[in-house]
Amino acid sequence: MILSSAAIATILVFAAAFGLVIGSFLNVVVYRVPAGLPLTRESRCPRCDSPVRPQHNVPVLSWLMLRGGCADCGEPISARYPLVELATGAAFVLVAWAFIEAALPMRGADVVVLVAYLYFAAISIALSLIDLETHRLPNGIVLPSYVVAGILFVLAAALGGSWSSLLSAAVGGAALFAFYFVLRLVRPGGMGGGDVKLAGVIGIYLGWLGWGALIVGGFAAFLLGGIFGGALLLARRAGRKTAIPFGPWMLVGAWVGIFAGQALAAWYLGILAIA
Ligand SMILES: [Zn+2]
Repeated sequence: MILSSAAIATILVFAAAFGLVIGSFLNVVVYRVPAGLPLTRESRCPRCDSPVRPQHNVPVLSWLMLRGGCADCGEPISARYPLVELATGAAFVLVAWAFIEAALPMRGADVVVLVAYLYFAAISIALSLIDLETHRLPNGIVLPSYVVAGILFVLAAALGGSWSSLLSAAVGGAALFAFYFVLRLVRPGGMGGGDVKLAGVIGIYLGWLGWGALIVGGFAAFLLGGIFGGALLLARRAGRKTAIPFGPWMLVGAWVGIFAGQALAAWYLGILAIA
């Protein structure tokens, strides 16, 4: 199907709404998964224990209407909740826009690929927040992501015949997993086991897009993490031993690779060809 600009605008509005709802769910994930609590239980106020009513579960708007407090006892609700919802909505619009632009006209396979990267955007936000707070990347999120990515990319390859992308996704996942696994062996205490497992997922997503995305995305994590760590040391906010979680940098680096990796690699190879 060829998309008109009205159709693209409609998809982006849906992506925003879907992102807000998923962001609301991510707030629950970030709070409950590290604590080992079930995701299905209804939400209650931590102070007065009254259940959150459906009309108070609307992303962002409910928080604004309730002026950032519990409807029953007025217990303050952190501004972080609507901010995570807004960030997820914005991320979904950005990803949807980028993938629609890159794959016009959108075919069935492209829609499946878009869903795969929206899923990756969602877990990127959840895992970054959890790693920053708890210094852990829970298996309960990372391991099922191999299954989700595997199913979606096999489906996309079958629909669109893009078997070479599927192959580079598999090789990318194995390569980045192996790279982090070796890093962890040679420098124990530097990387966590969670980082190694997450690296495989990231490698799949970067590998699907190509070698440029894989190399740029993999390298960007160390570049950004290194710059940030160096800045912290200079500002004397962190000692040499301060454990700074690396998961968020892996994920930010991955998105640099996703959005700019192929273009950066082509540009670099172009320079080499001229020289
Ligand atoms: Zn309350």
